[in-house]
Amino acid sequence: MAHCREEDAMPPKSAPSDIADLSREELQRYSRHLVLPEVGAEGQRALKRARVLLVGAGGLGSPLGLYLAAAGVGTLGLVDDDVVDVTNLQRQVVFGVDDVGLPKVERAARRLRNLNPHVDVIAHHERLSAATAAGLVTAYDIVVDGSDNFPTRFCLNDACVFAGRPDVFGSVYRFEGQVSVFDARRGPCYRCLFPHPPPPGSVPSCAEGGVLGILPGLVGLIQATETIKMILGIGETLVGKLLVVDALRMRFTHLNLLKDPACPVCSAQASIHQLRDEAYTCEPVGTDWDGDEYAVSPTQLHAALQRPNAPALLDVREPAEREIATLNNTYEIPIDELPTRLAELPRDRDLVVYCLSGGRSARAVRLLREAGFHRVSHLAGGLRAWTEQIDPSLPRY
Ligand SMILES: [Zn+2]
Repeated sequence: MAHCREEDAMPPKSAPSDIADLSREELQRYSRHLVLPEVGAEGQRALKRARVLLVGAGGLGSPLGLYLAAAGVGTLGLVDDDVVDVTNLQRQVVFGVDDVGLPKVERAARRLRNLNPHVDVIAHHERLSAATAAGLVTAYDIVVDGSDNFPTRFCLNDACVFAGRPDVFGSVYRFEGQVSVFDARRGPCYRCLFPHPPPPGSVPSCAEGGVLGILPGLVGLIQATETIKMILGIGETLVGKLLVVDALRMRFTHLNLLKDPACPVCSAQASIHQLRDEAYTCEPVGTDWDGDEYAVSPTQLHAALQRPNAPALLDVREPAEREIATLNNTYEIPIDELPTRLAELPRDRDLVVYCLSGGRSARAVRLLREAGFHRVSHLAGGLRAWTEQIDPSLPRY
């Protein structure tokens, strides 16, 4: 089929009465939609009436926001509590260098309003939580999950189940993405697949594992496509299916998903009847290390390293991470290799383990203590806390 030429699709010369609520400027702007029989004026009005909540104004939220705004979705809510960081620009294309250090939702809203002033963009500068999720979700028709953490994902799923809203799910990690539409009224929900979050620290974050910058663009646009189709009521959606995107081999695989008759939130046997904040932390950044008897603070480690009998440092990050930033390591053993390389480590010397944010190092301490290493501790908050508190000149990632 030949590609359409630009002049093939001009806007209608005069506005029929049934699209009177679209202005002349809108008729022209959306002309490529209006000439599609599957969209047309009726579909464009449905898009204008639609209220879509985007949770997460990041890698997925960027393409989602840009394309949903461009398509004319009338009301777009953006939820995010973060500020733009220079490490975001590799994939979060809604932002530019002028936005670094500023709140994501406000900068994204500004960009989307500039792209399409006919869209009402509502910035919710907050973290979605059990306290706020119900109010946010019920104010919109369709919810799109562009979050990057388990507490938000589970809380959002439950809020959508309770409110009867579809949850357009997307996630990315390294070279792989996943997309589905969870709608408990018609199919499975996220907890039908994963009843509860994984053990803390067991799943690396994108900051630790990396993500190909293009991948959230690809996955976010599939989420945007599903959202638009649901608003228009056309085609088939990913309800009951998980689309797995393998960017390295460029393979798209559909897995059929079944509703779990014992799902903790959407089944007759449900045990969860109200929203809750899951305790999962994949990046235990912060200062609340009081419960961890083997944690040392950056200040304590800094002082210890000045002493004559300074502890040895064991870096359990991956080699590629060490290329970005590193301390004066004595030992370098990636966490997955640690069980088979214990013989390389001293038992008669203090050893401080570190990683990016303290999750992998905590696992390493458990493993080493079980293996009989009694003089081992780890850096609370990892290299991130060290960079913040001791050496701001180290590159962050
Ligand atoms: Zn379920």
